[in-house]
Amino acid sequence: MDNPILTIVVPCYNEEAVLYETERQLTETIFSLMNEGLVSPKSNILFIDDGSRDQTWPIIEEMTKKNRLVKGLKLSRNFGHQKALLAGLEAAKEEADCVISIDADLQDDVSVMREFLLKYREGCDIVYGVRKSREKDTVFKRATAQGYYRMMKKLGVDLVYNHADYRLMSKRALEELARFKEQNLFLRGVVPLIGFKTAEVLYDRKERAAGESKYPLKKMLAFAFDGLTSFSVVPIRLITLVGLFTFLSSSIAGIYALFVKFFGHVDDGWTSIIISIWFLGGFMLMSLGLIGEYIGKIYQESKQRPRYTVERDAAPEAMGQQLLR
Ligand code: UDP
Ligand code: MG
Repeated sequence: MDNPILTIVVPCYNEEAVLYETERQLTETIFSLMNEGLVSPKSNILFIDDGSRDQTWPIIEEMTKKNRLVKGLKLSRNFGHQKALLAGLEAAKEEADCVISIDADLQDDVSVMREFLLKYREGCDIVYGVRKSREKDTVFKRATAQGYYRMMKKLGVDLVYNHADYRLMSKRALEELARFKEQNLFLRGVVPLIGFKTAEVLYDRKERAAGESKYPLKKMLAFAFDGLTSFSVVPIRLITLVGLFTFLSSSIAGIYALFVKFFGHVDDGWTSIIISIWFLGGFMLMSLGLIGEYIGKIYQESKQRPRYTVERDAAPEAMGQQLLR
């Protein structure tokens, strides 16, 4: 087999602080992989600027002029990590035999890319980078992440434990991914659905090299809830269960109430009525909200809007502009 063309896809949102270092380390990595004969000399790095408001795009453009490995893609506004990544994967799959996605902040150990490629050469279509430990995370982030994986597993969503978006995908896997047309693409949930032969490679996740996290708590919670409702209807089913339970227990309470009315002497109407109304009212509003969440998803999906818009691309002069759509 010829040495595969590798594209490293890097979504960037306001990453000016770390970009040069990222470029340096990824370039070094690609050259050492080339020297080992693991990847083709046509391999490259694709930076996707996800509508940054800082110098990220000018820096990327400048890099494409100086470094023949670097290409850039500029989205027309901020679309979010998952969509920026998708834009990169779709652009890369035209040329590349395999693609590795990695965050711009160098939290993921670039040296394990070598193992990714060895697995790819053994015939794996998807190789997941899996964090060995979460020592560097806050206790809170660790606990919530663990709880989340557990809950998703219970609900029947097959996530790779402690895997973020650091992974290798073959052209074939990317072509399958392209057939998942959903608007709200939750890559971590979708990629395992593709199947094929897969492998996991362990690595230590570091702290951000520079800059700050683009995932504040609020975004993280929204991301988690979105992942849940995109992949599972179990929450809706739980409503049915609670409804059934309420119905059964209220039947019993009803019999008791009749008994008290005809044979008892106490007249305690107010307390029981107010409790039932508040409890049921609260529960029904919550249920409506949850159902609304799913209906909202159907609404968004049904509009079939484009998932991202590319504004501009940049590639080394010698390679010409036609490399990227
Ligand atoms: N990112 C992006 N668009 C966004 C937010 C983040 O492309 O709207 C990129 C960001 O530049 C980084 C990656 O997604 O390369 C992961 O973000 P970050 O490191 O801030 O997340 P964390 O590691 O803290 O979860
Ligand atoms: Mg990060």
